[in-house]
Amino acid sequence: MVEHPLVRVKLTQLRDAQTSSREFRSRLSELATLLVYEVTRDFITKPCTVRTPLAECAGHMLARPLVVAPILRAGLGMIEGLLRILPEVSFAHIGMFRNEETHRPERYYFKAPAHLAAADVIICDPMLATGWSATAAITQLKEAGATSLRFACVVSCPVGIAQVREAHPDVPVVTACIDPGLDERAYIVPGLGDAGDRFFGTQ
Ligand code: URA
Repeated sequence: MVEHPLVRVKLTQLRDAQTSSREFRSRLSELATLLVYEVTRDFITKPCTVRTPLAECAGHMLARPLVVAPILRAGLGMIEGLLRILPEVSFAHIGMFRNEETHRPERYYFKAPAHLAAADVIICDPMLATGWSATAAITQLKEAGATSLRFACVVSCPVGIAQVREAHPDVPVVTACIDPGLDERAYIVPGLGDAGDRFFGTQ
């Protein structure tokens, strides 16, 4: 879990039912940026040289290409914030909607770049609730060849984290907070409501 005063403050604003869609988009984007530091912490770099105005100097570049994989649709809300400080990235789009009766994810779209197997992949979804969408997304990416994955979310809960850990112990979960649990509709409580609806203004 990312422990930082700015994360706590922005998360509080994100949760507030009075926060408008416009403000919600800004806060979600800023939180995504703040998560990048943690989610990329173990990325491997390789040496390179750079010429400063004065001399040649040893430097570092990322060793592997980077793929950002938003789970549609709410995951799109994190892209701008991630891109703000990530270098060159490609995207994998994972389309899933939640069956409101079973609470299980239903796949409707998947498109990933050809170099997925060689890349570090950051999956993003603001909410890690039951963990079923996250698990299914990771499975789909692995089936497409991904080998190095991380999951970034803003609000999570113990059930969702346990589900991902059990199904994919190799995939670290980076989250801004861990809420106590889920209600009968599988929404995180206290959570922030439906992240996609709040981001896209479709409440
Ligand atoms: N998806 C959301 O947007 N919110 C939740 O609380 C759970 C899943």
